[in-house]
This record gives sequence, C-alpha cells and structure tokens, in this order.
Amino acid sequence: MIDPVNDGRALQRLLDELGRLPGIGPKSAQRIAYHLLEADAEEARRLANAILDVKQQVHFCPVCFSYATRDTCDVCADGTRDRASICVVSEPRDVTAIERTGTYHGLYHVLGGVISPMDKIGPEQLHVRELLARLADGAVDEVILATNPDVEGETTATYLARVIRPLGVRVTRLASGLPVGGDLEYADEVTLGRAIEARREV
Ligand SMILES: [Zn+2]
Repeated sequence: MIDPVNDGRALQRLLDELGRLPGIGPKSAQRIAYHLLEADAEEARRLANAILDVKQQVHFCPVCFSYATRDTCDVCADGTRDRASICVVSEPRDVTAIERTGTYHGLYHVLGGVISPMDKIGPEQLHVRELLARLADGAVDEVILATNPDVEGETTATYLARVIRPLGVRVTRLASGLPVGGDLEYADEVTLGRAIEARREV
C-alpha cells in the first residue's frame, strides 16, 4: 500500500497549490511548505480554516459589489457615511486602499474591472448598470471616479463621466500626482488622500 504522505505526494500537492498563489515562486512555496510541515497541527488547521471561512463567508455586497460578510458590506451598512457621494473603483482592494487614507466618508461602487477592448471587456461586463441605478433617485450629488491612472482606468473614467453627467450629478476625478500607470493600492496613504481631497470636476 502506498502512503500518500511518505511517498511525497501530499507534500508535492501542497507545493503545487502554494506555487499557484500570486507572488509565490518555487522557493517561497518550499519555505512555506516546510514551515507548515514543522508547525504543530493546530497552526496548520488555523490556516486551512481561515482559507475555507473566507470562501464560505465573504461574498459581494449586493449594493456596491465590494466584499461583505453580512447582508451588505460594512460601508453600505454604516449609517454615518455620507450617502450623497459615491466613489467608483475597479476592484474591492481599491476600497481598502481609500479607506486606509481616512479622508473619504462617502459610499463606494466597485465596477469589477475596467473597460478593456483588448480583453473584450466593455461597460456591459462591469457593474455600470447598477451604478446608474443607484444614481436614479437623485440622492447622490457627486460621483468620484477613482479608477487607476493608467490607460484602461482613464478610458473607463472618461466613459463613466460621459454617461453620468447628463444625470445632473457632479463627476470628479482623483487629482494627478498618483504614479501614472500605477495601481491605487500601491500609492501611499498620504498621496492617495491628497489625490482625493484635490479631486477636480471632469
Ligand atoms: Zn456595499
């Protein structure tokens, strides 16, 4: 009988799975795998459970499409947030980046990507329809376009400004000063906070 642990397949499976993770090369995969082999069972179980829990408990907020663990996300559920302002970002991680600055107190809308003709992603593939629906009742008076300052982010912002302005909503864009071509999530908090405060109408 073959023992899957002793013939190395269990270890190889772990190495394969770790190697699939972003930013983890073969060397890092090996370091983590051997760490887990030497760790006590409880530590390994905590990691395994954390991974399973995040997959079971976290879903998209039905209002803003950020991550949520309850019916709606923490921001949408927070009665103290300014409901007259919606900040539009491409990914949930951008919400985290902007929240870290502490300068923005309105709501969010996560598009789930950016317009990219090369990847056949147009407005229909993003949560644009849902954004326009949120603007329909006139309660929102400003939409801040906070897509990344790269070609696709700018294309997306230009498109959104064109469809939102006719609704009579003020449309603003983060001020320049963010590293061009860089991701919002990699901008430091001070720079990103300033870009939000110095946003300009488009
Ligand atoms: Zn939400």
